[in-house]
Amino acid sequence: MEKRDYYEILGVEKNASKEDLKKSYRKLAMQYHPDRNPGNKEAEDKFKEAAEAYEILSHDDKRAKYDRYGHKGIKGGQDFQGFGDASDIFSHFSDIFGSSFGGSSSGGGSIFDDFFGGGGSSQQRRRQRQTGTPGADLKITLKLTLEEIAKGTTKKVKIKKYNTCETCAGSGAKNSSSFKNCTVCGGTGEVRQVSRSVFGQFVNVTSCNNCSGTGKIISDKCITCSGEGRVNSEATVKINVPAGVYDNSYLTLQGQGNAGKNGGRNGDIIVIFQELQHEFLVRDGDNVIYELNLSFPEAVLGTDVEVPTLSGRAKLKIDAGTQAGKYLKMREKGIQHLNSHGAGDQLVKINIHVPKHVTANEKELLNQLQKMDNIKVAT
Ligand SMILES: [Zn+2]
Ligand SMILES: [Zn+2]
Repeated sequence: MEKRDYYEILGVEKNASKEDLKKSYRKLAMQYHPDRNPGNKEAEDKFKEAAEAYEILSHDDKRAKYDRYGHKGIKGGQDFQGFGDASDIFSHFSDIFGSSFGGSSSGGGSIFDDFFGGGGSSQQRRRQRQTGTPGADLKITLKLTLEEIAKGTTKKVKIKKYNTCETCAGSGAKNSSSFKNCTVCGGTGEVRQVSRSVFGQFVNVTSCNNCSGTGKIISDKCITCSGEGRVNSEATVKINVPAGVYDNSYLTLQGQGNAGKNGGRNGDIIVIFQELQHEFLVRDGDNVIYELNLSFPEAVLGTDVEVPTLSGRAKLKIDAGTQAGKYLKMREKGIQHLNSHGAGDQLVKINIHVPKHVTANEKELLNQLQKMDNIKVAT
């Protein structure tokens, strides 16, 4: 099959900056992530394709080779080995997803653990096997104003989810003598099977479905949860939103999703941030831009004005002779940096207001003005 151009895959121009590449890749990776598209082969292919393109283009040396020689230039003419280079892939996943929330390692880990589960150690599998069926992840979209993003905020969200059954402490059994050995797996809790993944074929030891890997079957079920070990209920989740988050970035609250079945580990809550449009201000990275309209006399003579900022209205001095198109900087009035100290600036762009209609009197004055040497524009 003909390989697609890496820039085309990521939907960027040839001269795209690293930041642009990262942005596009993040978007695609979120869109086509296997967790969001279970069983969708096309999405899986797109996900791999984007990861490969980003892997090459995000490294200067590889990108230079690719720009010069195309696909032939990569890895001495051999095909890129998909996810063969797992350490590289992991490093950019954590780069894209993990580090976006500073020291918190919870950003990217879990969502990829499942996908790469086939390569996990037997110890990891064993640990999962012994803990019943894991609970599903929950996704929450959190709308944030620019003011909230600028300083960071705490939100409380009420959600419906499975909680661990308190009556049986999640076991699903009426009491400790309500268990007998599972007949499907003979009490071992595991079944061997050959399975296929994107990495090829491998023999997999999986958890027994009949007993959810516990090796035991409940003969006398807990009445409260009918043996599930969890109950449908509500919870209020507290979300600490760090200052400076971006639209569509996300935060993982590990273990706060649905409770697992029969004591299985809890799923995560994935909080996706959505930035609401501001009435006056436009975000540009950590800066915000405000367009200020001045009259011609104000621009010529100078004036004091009040402008909206993320922390209320603020005074701004306009010097005499201020030019149209000039940006005035209001230091640190922008958005706090996500991963470092300080904040962006508010940039005030100067526009000169030109009236579309004037009265006869105004016209007369303007005509007089126009005749003056200092006003005329040399052509
Ligand atoms: Zn079993
Ligand atoms: Zn119960």
